[in-house]
Amino acid sequence: MAGKRSAKTVRRWLFGDQLGPHFVDDDDQPVLMIESRAVFARRTFHRQKAHLVLSAMRHRAAELGDRCEYVAADTYAEVARGPLTVCHPTSRAALGLVQRLPDVEILPARGFVTSSAEFQDWTETRGRRRLLLEDFYRDARTRLGVLMDGDEPVGGKWNLDAENREPPPRSGSLGVPEPWWPAEDEIDEQVRHDLDRWEADGDVHFLGVDGPRRFAATAHEAGEVLQHFLSDRLDAFGPHEDAMLAGDPWMAHSLLSAPMNLGLLDPIDVVRQAEQVYRSGAVRLASTEGFVRQILGWRDYVWHLYWQQGASYAHRNALSAERPIPKWFAELDADDVKARCLSTVLADVRDHGWVHHIPRLMVLGNYAMQRGWRPSAVTDWFHRAFVDGYDWVMVPNVIGMSQYADGGVMATKPYASGGSYIDRMSDFCGGCAYRPKVRVGEKACPFTAGYWAFLHAHREDLAGNHRMAQPLHGLDRLKDLEELLVQEADRGSTAP
Ligand code: FAD
Ligand code: SF4
Repeated sequence: MAGKRSAKTVRRWLFGDQLGPHFVDDDDQPVLMIESRAVFARRTFHRQKAHLVLSAMRHRAAELGDRCEYVAADTYAEVARGPLTVCHPTSRAALGLVQRLPDVEILPARGFVTSSAEFQDWTETRGRRRLLLEDFYRDARTRLGVLMDGDEPVGGKWNLDAENREPPPRSGSLGVPEPWWPAEDEIDEQVRHDLDRWEADGDVHFLGVDGPRRFAATAHEAGEVLQHFLSDRLDAFGPHEDAMLAGDPWMAHSLLSAPMNLGLLDPIDVVRQAEQVYRSGAVRLASTEGFVRQILGWRDYVWHLYWQQGASYAHRNALSAERPIPKWFAELDADDVKARCLSTVLADVRDHGWVHHIPRLMVLGNYAMQRGWRPSAVTDWFHRAFVDGYDWVMVPNVIGMSQYADGGVMATKPYASGGSYIDRMSDFCGGCAYRPKVRVGEKACPFTAGYWAFLHAHREDLAGNHRMAQPLHGLDRLKDLEELLVQEADRGSTAP
């Protein structure tokens, strides 16, 4: 029929985070992929993030063979010629771009468990109630029958967080096997060579150091990471999920965020496989529930909030934090930092482009919020420094969860804490130049003193929040507050 396009002439445009088999419709579909060096010239990304993304894209192109046109170009628009179909991109900027281009059909998003329509239905049931993660998660579990016995959650409880908040073991080790590490190949060698060349040409600069590729770059490798995690590490995941160890950044975390965010694994498969392992009796319920909650709950929840909250959300700044990020932090100068927690975590980011959830929230994010660094700059920093950082996931996690810049949409109170939390949940404080309980003087812990200075600065902003009543009452009782405020003003932007 005149004008009707055959499926063979309509190519699927794959962005660099749409690399799994579920982003194409069949084994013959022609594909377009675009590699842009200009993306890396515009912003300073972690070297290992640039490596991972390019390696994953080139590996996918090699798998697709002749049916993939792989083009290197400065801008997408110059080569993205239709007719094309594309799965809903993951950032507002990319969505705007594909909407502006002629002859590009946008398909519903893939790579998330709950669809936009299902999320919309759920929000409509809420009326004026908050869009709570806990309720969203329970709705998804019920709808999909995940970890359910009929209408009831397996084991009778929806939430096993109370069993999953143990401090680290005193031995300094979880005693679990290391994660599965990928072996680099000739594609990685070529990527490393290209990145070295771009850097030498002077138009591209990177953050952090180069190192062996630690994260899966193909669907096959991602499957290996997942299987190894499920059989050898998931059982230990739960209890120490929130703990930190100076000598082991990975602990029993899955290392699946990077491959999942590249689109290499379909999250519902990950969830179903975790449930199967639990049902086989091989892992405890608390660990399985904790892990499923992260994916079916948190990961999808932040994805939907990113779109639901609108474009202005990324610029919210409820606490009017306007200070720039200091150079030592921005450039990962871990060796300049005496505070052992911060120095260890910055060194891990420098060396791997990754740390787990709690160092992100309670060390890096906590410090940034206490010191009043501009939330949009903190988001940008996290996005560039982390191998799994993408706009959709960084904006809610940083603006909402970590910096309280949305004024309480995501978190009911700021995730601010002093050194005693870090002391309880890690082995950092023992070897530190500061003492977690000391507020003033040479040994004053910058997190503890910073916490009180933060509460003082935001006393009015937080006064109406009943969850902050007790900490604010504690602030009123501090005898050395004046001295502490002078000390913290002096600490200013220098490395603690
Ligand atoms: P695990 O601890 O094994 O958890 C399993 C999976 O759950 C993760 O792979 C991830 O896909 C998902 N998950 C858990 N929590 C979240 C969450 N809050 N948001 C989205 N997914 C979640 N995660 C990212 O994928 N990209 C980011 O850019 C990112 N930035 C963050 C920034 C801050 C300030 C904070 C507090 C959290 C951020 N997270 C981000 C969430 C979380 O820290 C990482 O997903 C996790 O540490 C990745 O390691 P893992 O794969 O071993 O996760
Ligand atoms: Fe961090 Fe304070 Fe503990 Fe030192 S004493 S490791 S600065 S929390």
